[in-house]
Amino acid sequence: MPLSLHNTLAGKKELFVPLVSEQVSMYNCGPTVYNYAHIGNLRAYVFADILRRVLEWNKYTVKQVINITDVGHMVGDGDDGEDKIEKSAEKEKKTAQEIATFYTDAFLEDISVLNIDKSKIIFCKATDHIPEQISLIQALEKKGFTYTTSDGVYFDTSKLPAYGKLGNIDLSGLEEGSRVEANPEKRNKTDFALWKFSPAGEKRQQDWPSPWGIGFPGWHIECSAMSMKYLGETFDIHTGGIDHIPVHHNNEIAQSESATGKPYVHYWLHCAFLNIKGARIAKSTGNTIYIRDLVAKGISPIAYRYWLLTAHYRTMLNFTDESVLGAQTALVKLINHFIEWRQVPIGNENADYVKKFENFINDDLDTAKALALTWELVKDKGVSPADKSATLLRFDTVFGLNLSAMPIPKAETENIPPEITLLAEEREKARINKDWKLADAIRAEISSRGYEVKDVENGFEVKSL
Ligand code: AMP
Ligand code: ZN
Repeated sequence: MPLSLHNTLAGKKELFVPLVSEQVSMYNCGPTVYNYAHIGNLRAYVFADILRRVLEWNKYTVKQVINITDVGHMVGDGDDGEDKIEKSAEKEKKTAQEIATFYTDAFLEDISVLNIDKSKIIFCKATDHIPEQISLIQALEKKGFTYTTSDGVYFDTSKLPAYGKLGNIDLSGLEEGSRVEANPEKRNKTDFALWKFSPAGEKRQQDWPSPWGIGFPGWHIECSAMSMKYLGETFDIHTGGIDHIPVHHNNEIAQSESATGKPYVHYWLHCAFLNIKGARIAKSTGNTIYIRDLVAKGISPIAYRYWLLTAHYRTMLNFTDESVLGAQTALVKLINHFIEWRQVPIGNENADYVKKFENFINDDLDTAKALALTWELVKDKGVSPADKSATLLRFDTVFGLNLSAMPIPKAETENIPPEITLLAEEREKARINKDWKLADAIRAEISSRGYEVKDVENGFEVKSL
């Protein structure tokens, strides 16, 4: 079954067709690095990772970008109030840069322990892309989409009839005082800041000169500027949590499409929220959990990842210790089966199960059904243990539970004469030294004596011919 994805822009599942065949461009809204990412934030990146892996399963190469917001994201997500990074710097008595560097490193560490391969991702910081943001605002200014107030340069949403198309936002519902706060100088409630002036008489740590005055970029413009810099003016996929649909992502679309006159993104994907004990994650009430808290509770980050996979990404999840500990028990069982069944040489993937698995993941990343299928396979007496383990390894290219790192049990040992083993060891040394000629010569010698040497993960194996 070909891959289909739920596109927030269309409000339904759609067949996935990339702009360029075999290649996908994807941008994931990244963290604001003023604090540790909580486990709800991390759900957004595990979801993006699963999406990447499913795209790779479908033989696409993926260019993936995650931004690091290190300036301009205000407390409350609007245009007024304090900058989250500057506020945190004040509280922790550090510089804004120290705060951003510390929490960026913490974020990269968190995603690593969740088995997200950082080396495949382009990370870009807002403060490294100020010129790009300024020139995008200039392009908007030239086309008449901006106006200036006493505190900044704003985007005039009334100039764009399609404003709010993502998620069919009810604009009258975006009341001032909630996410879009009251500002008497704004022409329309939904207008938003592109560039903010540094407040008079107040020294900000992070500000830059601009054609409009000293200040800093708005939160939305960084995502438009960086995504288009790395992925082009139109790209395939943009993701984030559902909280970003009404304001942040509609603003990104407005800025980008007004500046370029082209469609910005083809597929918008949003993951549902993670709540803790039935309530919204909120630092103010202490209802927050970080990766290190999980570890302190004896929950492995990979068990947390497994637990996330038990639900569809568009389903709201409710974190409780019991539910995640239950997932951990299941994961340990799965790993134990896998180790028991894993053999050298590896068995064959079971084609029926692989097909069914593909149908589930290609149906808008239905990891919940793919995991249920995994347990069907585990219990299936009609599939040999070696083939089960081979099939599980294939499934794990999507799940990312790191099964391939599990120990390989010693193969059933044949009585191999010691001189043959010695030769095989010599060959292994030659291979490690990249002396392929010698390695081949020793292999020929081994075969002439009636044995075969095979390279397997973590070493070699010798069998009689
Ligand atoms: P932020 O650092 O606030 O910009 O958020 C980073 C990412 O986490 C964004 O994609 C948000 O939409 C997402 N996010 C924030 N809170 C949650 C939550 N409780 N559950 C799932 N995703 C979330
Ligand atoms: Zn963003």
